Amino acid sequence: MTKTFGGVTAVDGASVQFQEGKVNGLIGPNGSGKTTFFNCVTGMIKPDSGSVLYRDKTITRQSPDRIARAGIGRSFQLCRVFPRMTVMENLLVAVRHTSIGRQLRSARDEEELERARGWLRRVGIDHLEHAEARNLSYGQQKLLELAGVLMGEPDTIMLDEPAGGVNPALIGRISTLVRELNAEGKTFIIVEHNMEMVMSLCDHVVVFDRGRPIAEGAPEIIQRDPRVLEAYLGV
Ligand code: ADP
Repeated sequence: MTKTFGGVTAVDGASVQFQEGKVNGLIGPNGSGKTTFFNCVTGMIKPDSGSVLYRDKTITRQSPDRIARAGIGRSFQLCRVFPRMTVMENLLVAVRHTSIGRQLRSARDEEELERARGWLRRVGIDHLEHAEARNLSYGQQKLLELAGVLMGEPDTIMLDEPAGGVNPALIGRISTLVRELNAEGKTFIIVEHNMEMVMSLCDHVVVFDRGRPIAEGAPEIIQRDPRVLEAYLGV
């Protein structure tokens, strides 16, 4: 896949395969094209060339809505919630963007509310159901965003810097959640700068540098790979 912005080649002929059923990490120095790659996969921007296959079906250049319906949910680097809506309202809005949202529109509201409460309990912010999102801490807003993603019942969850700006206790909670959800069958693809989190959480890590993968493998191997050290340290 390739994506250029003016004269800048953000993703440069990158060919990447993530592992279904695993926690995949996508790491690399700032500006190496990770977010652009995420945005191309999830339909937020269109790649100039290349294709995206999800479970043997092409989802290249489809709308974000359709890609979500295919089973891919995502969070954003700068957490996206509606600040003046309550926590519950945020979840009910999130679900309307997905296929299950469409199905549920005709179902009883009470069932939808219960499902939302279930995810809030799961991420540990059920006590904040009636609070406005802007009154939550940044970490709590990230948990709310994650609950919104889970409302779409995705099979694959792409997280853009889940630990960014979050205190260590909440990083621990997010890691535990990822492990539990993965054990229940959800695939994860995680862009993250917090190496401790990446190394402890991921089964498989892909390293980007200058718009393409330069190494991939188990975290303990990646950590010692001279190409990776070179990309990070510029030595
Ligand atoms: P990463 O997520 O690894 O930090 P990005 O995908 O954000 O990398 O950026 C890759 C390169 O593409 C950078 O040089 C960045 O400045 C450039 N870039 C990203 N988005 C845009 C955009 N919308 N317009 C122009 N340049 C962009």
